[in-house]
Amino acid sequence: MLPVFSARRALLGTLALAVLVVVCLALAVMSYAAALSSRRDAAAVDELRLAANRVAAADELADYGVEPEPALLADEIEVLARDHSSALSLMGPRDAARAEHVIDEILGCGLGLVGQGPAVDHSHAHGEIDGFLDRASTAARDAATRAERRAGVAITVAALAGLLTALLLVRSRLSEVGLEAALQERSSVDPLTGLANRRTLRHRLDALDASSGLSAMVLLDLDGFSTVNDELGHQVGDEILRAVAARLGEIVRAGDLLARIGGDEFGLVLAGLREPNEALEIAERCVSAFDESIWLSSGEEFIRVSGGVAVLDADVGANRALVEADLAMYEAKRLGGQQAVVFSPEIEASASRTAEITRALRGLDVTRELSLVFQPIVRSDDRAVVSHEALVRWESPTLGTVSPADFIPLAERTGDVQVIGRWVREELCRRLVDWDAQGRAVDVSMNMSPLELRGDDAVEELVSLVRSHGLSPRRFTVEITESAVIDDAGVMRRRLVELRGAGFRLAIDDFGSGYSNLGQLLGAPFDVLKVDRSLLLQLSEMREAHGGDPSGPCAVMQSIAGIAAVFDADIVCEGVETAQQLTSLAASGVTFVQGYHTGRPAPEPVEVVSV
Ligand code: C2E
Ligand code: CA
Ligand code: CA
Repeated sequence: MLPVFSARRALLGTLALAVLVVVCLALAVMSYAAALSSRRDAAAVDELRLAANRVAAADELADYGVEPEPALLADEIEVLARDHSSALSLMGPRDAARAEHVIDEILGCGLGLVGQGPAVDHSHAHGEIDGFLDRASTAARDAATRAERRAGVAITVAALAGLLTALLLVRSRLSEVGLEAALQERSSVDPLTGLANRRTLRHRLDALDASSGLSAMVLLDLDGFSTVNDELGHQVGDEILRAVAARLGEIVRAGDLLARIGGDEFGLVLAGLREPNEALEIAERCVSAFDESIWLSSGEEFIRVSGGVAVLDADVGANRALVEADLAMYEAKRLGGQQAVVFSPEIEASASRTAEITRALRGLDVTRELSLVFQPIVRSDDRAVVSHEALVRWESPTLGTVSPADFIPLAERTGDVQVIGRWVREELCRRLVDWDAQGRAVDVSMNMSPLELRGDDAVEELVSLVRSHGLSPRRFTVEITESAVIDDAGVMRRRLVELRGAGFRLAIDDFGSGYSNLGQLLGAPFDVLKVDRSLLLQLSEMREAHGGDPSGPCAVMQSIAGIAAVFDADIVCEGVETAQQLTSLAASGVTFVQGYHTGRPAPEPVEVVSV
């Protein structure tokens, strides 16, 4: 905005100066004309004075008997006979009247001398006219001098203004050039981080050719950055982006191009790679660069980054590389984030599935298409059912059965998760009321997306829903995924405290699914620790590989059970599919399990054995 304003001001200034030049020049011309006319008047007066003096001299000589040659006075008489109005105008009105009279007298005398009229005595007129004309001549010369001085000043001012105009024109041209340079700079650099921008990255990608060697495009995106911006404010958001830019800058190799290409999106163009895998290695280095927290003026902040990699070749040009890197990056996020993924055709297929699901979500009719199933949570030693986890099912008219693992993350992105969650909670309350009426005392676990808890009155709404059905919050365990507890620390922790305060039980879901910040996680209040299926699988596989007893106690599970005990929380292990896993878990002190082995999700809960 600023350069435009100052450019306009400069233009106005230049115009004003140009007008001044013209006005001054006009004034100078007029003044010179006036001076010229005054000088001409003075000359006329002098001529008149000379003529009068000559006639007077001839008259005096005539007194001594020297008759003048008539031809000698012809010129003087001619002068005296002229119109003297301009000479007279130089005098006051009374002087002018007198002078006119005197001139006439002298003319009469002259005419008398050359015999063209009667002789006239003019001795008085003589002395008088000389005084009048002398004053008139001086006045005319003074006026001329004044006009010349005025013209001089006008010329000087015009010259100065002209010079200034020229200077301004040169300067505005220079600043135009500077502005162009600034615009050029602005359009190639991201002003927030000082990195290259999307345009520059595009140029670099377009410029890649055979001489660049093996090249790749890496797209990096912060996980959950919108939450940061919403909750900590844009200023903190900007600070984070600058810190991220700085840290990424330490990783890129000389010759690579690092750019900020969108809100929280960074791009990296790599050239001269030895092999395709090197691109993934660099991307992974970028991701793990944030294993260590960053420091802001407000304190420590944990950042997670997901990366997508596309390798360029004869078929994959700049446009395609951007699409592929984007798809791969979204795959990395879908897999839980904080990792880098290389593009593959399968990813594209799943992305088109994502697009289909997103489209189908738009037409979702919750009451017709959604239903709940219930999976028993059982005691590990005697398999007594203690509660059920409610899991949502979607039967889409266009896509058929869609897994919540596929549509919930998308619904979180589109915001549809609010509508889905509300339906789930209402349906769950209705079912509990029904079961109560049938004398079946069932407690339930329900999943809530962090997005559903973001609102200030989220807990209040939940409480009034449960109460309006005459139910006690104690019968509900709310499962929140551990990543939400870590990412969203501020608001989330408040909600968790509120939930527990209202009487709900709280479970940290997906424990051990890849988030390593145990300290931060355990800072949150909870009643149940739900160990993720992926951790159970990993541990089972490890023991198999090392020839361990698959039904024996597992040290890792034992220590997790120990952590839960310290917090006076229950521990539930998910995804138990075999009898060996169950035995091992029971032997490790994991008191509750959930899995296909002890009960699949079903439309109705199984008989509950109360504990
Ligand atoms: P989750 O909360 O971790 O739920 C457990 C998932 O593991 C369920 O998948 C369940 O069917 C599955 N599962 C249980 N036992 C076994 C087993 O032995 N082996 C295997 N392979 N899988 C087992 P489901 O129902 O597909 O749900 C997937 C995820 O979708 C859930 O993971 C949860 O995060 C989300 N979800 C489900 N229902 C809801 C809901 O009502 N609201 C919200 N916000 N999220 C939901
Ligand atoms: Ca769950
Ligand atoms: Ca889970």
